[in-house]
Amino acid sequence: MRAPAGQRRFKKRKEFADGADSAENAADRFGYFPGDPFEVETMRLQAFHCPSCAGCLDIRPGAGRVKCAYCGNTLVVEDNAVSSSPRGVAAGSEADKPDYPEPGATLYTREAPRFEMSVIEQKIPEGTPDRFAPIELGDERFALVYLRHVDAKVAAVAYDLDAPFESLKASLESDGDPGLAANCALEDLCRRGYPHRLEVAVCMFEPKHMTMTPYNAGCRDAVWWVSNEEGRCCTTGSAHDPLERKFLRESRDHFENGRPVHLAAGDLFVMVSAGFAGRGGRGMWPTGLGTLTETLNEHLGEEPLRVVTLVKNAFWEARSRHRDGGEHPCGDVKIAAVRAILPPEADAIPGDGKIEVLKSRKFEVGMIKGPRDIAKLFTLHSDRQLVIWMSPQGGALDPAAFDRGAQAILEVLDGQTGDNDNPRCAGRAAYEAMKVGPSQVKMAVIQLLDCYGRVKYYRAGWKQPVALGPRGLKSDGQQQFDEGGEATVNPGARLFFPGPLEYEGEQHLAEYFGQVWSGGKASRLYEAMREHWKTKKTEVALAKLAKAAAADARLSNVVGMGLVTGVG
Ligand SMILES: [Zn+2]
Repeated sequence: MRAPAGQRRFKKRKEFADGADSAENAADRFGYFPGDPFEVETMRLQAFHCPSCAGCLDIRPGAGRVKCAYCGNTLVVEDNAVSSSPRGVAAGSEADKPDYPEPGATLYTREAPRFEMSVIEQKIPEGTPDRFAPIELGDERFALVYLRHVDAKVAAVAYDLDAPFESLKASLESDGDPGLAANCALEDLCRRGYPHRLEVAVCMFEPKHMTMTPYNAGCRDAVWWVSNEEGRCCTTGSAHDPLERKFLRESRDHFENGRPVHLAAGDLFVMVSAGFAGRGGRGMWPTGLGTLTETLNEHLGEEPLRVVTLVKNAFWEARSRHRDGGEHPCGDVKIAAVRAILPPEADAIPGDGKIEVLKSRKFEVGMIKGPRDIAKLFTLHSDRQLVIWMSPQGGALDPAAFDRGAQAILEVLDGQTGDNDNPRCAGRAAYEAMKVGPSQVKMAVIQLLDCYGRVKYYRAGWKQPVALGPRGLKSDGQQQFDEGGEATVNPGARLFFPGPLEYEGEQHLAEYFGQVWSGGKASRLYEAMREHWKTKKTEVALAKLAKAAAADARLSNVVGMGLVTGVG
């Protein structure tokens, strides 16, 4: 998913948004200075959108001030941020009190290889300050952090935010544990005498398996997960109470993290400020939460830049219809959205493997064969077929040795042994007859029981297969033993043999595979597995899976990968 045409980056300007008239001020507001540590060469570029109406902007590079073609708002453009000017007070309002006027908004982005983030921010000068900022943690990890002080009645309090933010940041950078970082921030405050309570929300994003680990104390409903697989948004677990001094002594779970969430490609995490959520505010004015879930569900799959603006607009629209819409929000209105990005596509199957497909009546067996591999199809008695595939590791495979191994396999599966359905036993017999082991010759023995639509297999030196269903990931599963297994492979269903791919353990279901594979569920391979059924031809589907795996893990060779398709 490269940046579509029309996306651009702006030249650095010496102008800043309303209220941020210097670089220092901008750095203070955004938690970083646009142009410095966040900007790396590998960044992906998004299209710019109007923070007022979410319309797509077409701006000449270097333009400092532009008018939005859709809503006419005057916009200030700097680096990776666009700001709108405040909206005027609605004339002729029927309410006793005019609506609180919508302040100007600043929209900025953070783009990295695996995550993109957009934040929209509106200053409420009458509100209580809070801290809402992204933190870079190295190795492409980053965290989104929220901090605010409240009193015993959960009313917001203005108090030092710099010191707790710094100690939280230092702990996150060093140990990458959100709950521990919150503990450090509280400890630091209490060392200097702390009369208040601390609201902390942390979303920590890790690219290895594309997970988000949440921590939340006092920020109820502040973090939302928009799941493409679920087709809706939901919160990420419950929140602890706001942190107070005595929590440092209590042996309870105040600092426990939420369960890590595995992001699928296109999933969004959205974090909102207390000013948006209406947390601890006075009066009956509407919180933004109702409009938030509505807007997120309606715009599933849209890019973060657009989503944050649409959410912000829905918030102000709901306020203006409400009788308490004249009150100011209790703090700045801030909305951040983070989305997983797929790694760049690979355009070829890496290494010297070539695809070959062997066919029985009900199955196709696709293999990525190395130049010295030998694979043959044998017909057994009682409507059964057999694929034997051997792959030498260094050096050649003597055809006579292959024949010796094949003979041993056929004796078990086609002879008078009474063990005709035991490819595991057959594979072991082959190694014995050949006097080698899996470290010298990798082997797959795949028995195709055309009469039952079942597949039995033995694998040595390669990973066990993952079952795929006829319409995606959902399969009937399979039974696995240490070196083999069996599965019903109905028409359209598949067994994906991952060959040389490296990941933790053996995973026979795609769901579990997606939790341990490089890039997790937001990987090319997981996507390809989900989409496999749209490519009927085994050869083409196997090529797509191989390229996807190569894109995720930068592989140099995929010899040993295979795909069994049920063809009915
Ligand atoms: Zn506009």
